[in-house]
Amino acid sequence: DVPVVAVVGRPNVGKSTLVNRILGRREAVVEDIPGVTRDRVAYDANWRGRRFTLVDTGGWDPEARGFMARVSAQAELAVAAADVVLYVLDVTVGATDVDEAVVKILRRSGKPVVVAANKADDQRGEADSTALWSLGLGEPQAVSAMHGRGSGDLLDALFEVL
Ligand code: GDP
Ligand code: MG
Repeated sequence: DVPVVAVVGRPNVGKSTLVNRILGRREAVVEDIPGVTRDRVAYDANWRGRRFTLVDTGGWDPEARGFMARVSAQAELAVAAADVVLYVLDVTVGATDVDEAVVKILRRSGKPVVVAANKADDQRGEADSTALWSLGLGEPQAVSAMHGRGSGDLLDALFEVL
């Protein structure tokens, strides 16, 4: 069976940009407007010759209301169907209350989680990523989805738990 990786996190942290970086092509829709990816979208990917399914989601906020609550529910379904969760954060923002709430749910899910500390575009961002150890989900993988920095190490970390 091809393992399934769910890419989740708050809106606008760079999930779709990271999905495109991993795919090596621009398929997932990237937008400056939060909540552009509304549903779960699955893509065939591979790393070092191993196939996996990458599922992009629209943004997760357990407190969301209205339209965003439905987007959020899709993220939760994606986690339920996944073998591994790639939890994406924005190092320029850090872990917010919403992140803390999602992490609690992730812990309850029992699924293995790899933390992607995205938007670590430079050394400063990489240094900031260490603050995300506080989530208690292991080593934050500093990555810049936009520039490609750290994406290979992130995928290696992902395959260590797959
Ligand atoms: P999503 O809502 O989590 O899917 O986020 P998107 O992938 O749509 O990206 C949201 C915004 O963050 C866009 O303007 C991206 O260009 C930007 N972005 C994504 N990754 C990076 C990154 O590594 N560095 C920087 N500086 N910006 C990024
Ligand atoms: Mg998106």
